[in-house]
Amino acid sequence: MKKKISETINHSLVLMAFFCTILLSVIPGCSKTGQPPEPQPQPMEKAAEDNPLLSAFDTPFQVPPFDKIKEEHYLPAYKEGIKRQKKEIEAIVNNPEPPTFANTIAALDKSGLLLKDVNFIFKAMKSANTSPRLQEIAKDISPLKSGHKDDILLNAKLFQRVKAVYDQKDRLNLSEEQAMALEKYYKDFVRGGANLSPEQQDGLRQINKELSLLQLNFGDNILKENNRFELVIDNEEDLAGLPKAVIDTAAETAVKQGHKGKWVFTLHKPSLIPFLQYSDKRELREKMFKGYINRGNHGDELDNKDILIKILSLRDERVKLFGFNNHAEYQLDRNMSKKPEAVYDLLSNLWKRALALAKKEAKALQELIDKEGGTFKLKPWDWWYYTEKVKKAKFDVDENLTKPYFKLENVRDGAFYVANKLFGLKFIPMTNIPTYHPEVKVFEVQEADGSHVGVIYLDYFPRASKRGGAWMNSLRDQIRFDGKEITPVVTNNGNFTKPTADTPSLLSYDEVETLFHEFGHALHGLLSNGSYYKTAGTNVPIDFVELPSQIMENWMSEPEVLKVYAKHYKTGEVIPTELVEKIKKTKKFNQGFKRVEYLAASILDMDWHTAENPAQLDVDTFETQSLNKIGLIPEIVTRYRSTYFSHIFSSMYSAGYYSYIWAEVLDADAFAAFQETSLFDQKTAQSFRKNILEKGGSADPMTLYIRFRGAEPKIEPLLIRTGLIEE
Ligand SMILES: [Zn+2]
Repeated sequence: MKKKISETINHSLVLMAFFCTILLSVIPGCSKTGQPPEPQPQPMEKAAEDNPLLSAFDTPFQVPPFDKIKEEHYLPAYKEGIKRQKKEIEAIVNNPEPPTFANTIAALDKSGLLLKDVNFIFKAMKSANTSPRLQEIAKDISPLKSGHKDDILLNAKLFQRVKAVYDQKDRLNLSEEQAMALEKYYKDFVRGGANLSPEQQDGLRQINKELSLLQLNFGDNILKENNRFELVIDNEEDLAGLPKAVIDTAAETAVKQGHKGKWVFTLHKPSLIPFLQYSDKRELREKMFKGYINRGNHGDELDNKDILIKILSLRDERVKLFGFNNHAEYQLDRNMSKKPEAVYDLLSNLWKRALALAKKEAKALQELIDKEGGTFKLKPWDWWYYTEKVKKAKFDVDENLTKPYFKLENVRDGAFYVANKLFGLKFIPMTNIPTYHPEVKVFEVQEADGSHVGVIYLDYFPRASKRGGAWMNSLRDQIRFDGKEITPVVTNNGNFTKPTADTPSLLSYDEVETLFHEFGHALHGLLSNGSYYKTAGTNVPIDFVELPSQIMENWMSEPEVLKVYAKHYKTGEVIPTELVEKIKKTKKFNQGFKRVEYLAASILDMDWHTAENPAQLDVDTFETQSLNKIGLIPEIVTRYRSTYFSHIFSSMYSAGYYSYIWAEVLDADAFAAFQETSLFDQKTAQSFRKNILEKGGSADPMTLYIRFRGAEPKIEPLLIRTGLIEE
């Protein structure tokens, strides 16, 4: 599995609660004028008056006025947003007309626009530009939001109207998009407890409230753990083996963290991974590695074990209310995979192949250790180091040979180039636009004919206020209603290698993949062509949402594309063909490890969420048993251990971490359509755009896929691509 998967923590975009987002300026009654007076004391009034979140956004393309939004604006804006949506819901419920799709489902879909807007902005800032205060505010907001969501989903009169429409759905002559929106809303209500007794509904409310706080705590603890650990080196000899750029960055980190004149390494990936790859100091590699894998597991105030057991227990309790046997069944019911069995089938099919390969790799690494006169057995903190050596010997290529060809700005332009060749899109830099951080770059996206598509914010460097990984966020979803076209605003965020005083940002091969990956998510949001929030854009099941992102990685490594963007940052020389060929070969290198590491985490996720009586379980014991059962070798640690598995305990990937490989089957099969024609075949590109990117979640994913490809996806292209079977 590619490293980018570990980097790509939860794209916070999928399956948004239906009360989230959008643009104030086009919504009558959303600005502060014309609102009834606030029944609040004077100071609150004042706050609302000055709150930029409550006014029309007077910015290019009505993007958020980041220069005016302050932390204290969020909570009042959330409260106001909730209040407004309550009124809108009241109006739907009290409509004397009989329930119709338009006056109930469409009306519900367009309610809560202020809240959606505020929520998008707040979520984006909480991920990319947070602060202790913002983290605290999130704790106040979280119960407000989940309480409000419950108020809507448990509104019996509202549900009656939704159900009335649902019950006559076959006679309504609905479009495919409308039918799907109706289906999704109806299921939301059922899952929200609309069919439960009042006592059960109270219980559900309590569970949801507790869960949202526990999930926040889990994520907070990891953020704190990431920032707590530091390896301070004051003896130059201990830097042995590390490349200059890595040492320079460590020196800069040291200055920032109050260790001027020394070198500091952290658990953030751009610091951790090169250290594991290059440091000759085995005991220091062990220290770093153990620091990483023991996060949230120190038995102190940041320990996540009790929290995750509580999360699992509450999830289990919740799904029992709906007649599911476990949380995995409940989650997969609305995914493309539908059932846990389908997921376990795919995972175990791949596991057998991957494990066999990983064992061969471990043997080769041990042989190298022995040959060098090492008298120790290969351990997990040796894997990167010796793999790098084998890779160098075998392919005579190391990261540092390719990095100069992957200057961040060039790579970004390479992604733009692919979007242009496939879909005709153009990216125009915008400088007259407020951003939330000086490092953020903004581009307007246009069609080939110059018409406006949307806006994208690119925010690529790590900082203490940003969480780890890479992701795409929406700041505003595309939507069309009442004759208005609301255009999308999206972000791409990453934690890529920073420029230093004398070198620009030069990306590793994995980082290049990650950039293209997140850019694919951005295109999914930007090219959305929908009429209902519920089904537009990236509002698709999580095992489908990675198709548009993962497919982009294929173009990134094609020689035809590399020639365009992979140019040496000093000389402008195009990356040599033989280096490209070597890179292609190295793509299949170390696949056993990468796949095993990823699949183990996916299986662990499924095991946790199919387990009976989670309250009775001991975290370390369960994890060990789960991994022993599949025969994970001791030289490899699961990509995520339970106590820092934020995808599944503080994000929406619970019983969903498998989605990446599921989508990889899709992306390999989908890209084969271009391989069968040509890299930028216009007919295939148009079909992908029309049937997948523009459609969002407006139809069953398999139906959309078959429309694009003419058949269900096959697993073979993935097996060939990854070297898990012979070509
Ligand atoms: Zn992704």
